[in-house]
Amino acid sequence: MLNIDMRKIYNFYPVEPAPDAGNLPTGGDIYYECLDCQMVVNSVPHIKAACACGNLSGGAGDLVVKNPQRVRVVRGKLK
Ligand SMILES: [Zn+2]
Repeated sequence: MLNIDMRKIYNFYPVEPAPDAGNLPTGGDIYYECLDCQMVVNSVPHIKAACACGNLSGGAGDLVVKNPQRVRVVRGKLK
């Protein structure tokens, strides 16, 4: 598992208006910030990725969100 701090590489901006938790958008520049552990994971992770608390985990282009209510959708831009 790779746990690099994405904030060192990207600036993240909340997607407004906040998407519905039941219908989270995905995309190469869309990231989910876990509100429980504050880690940021890409919404379509190509490599194995997970947040520290396990709310977000995925790989091979699929991300599983255990509790979408505890996710903030953000857009990442390379610094
Ligand atoms: Zn988490």
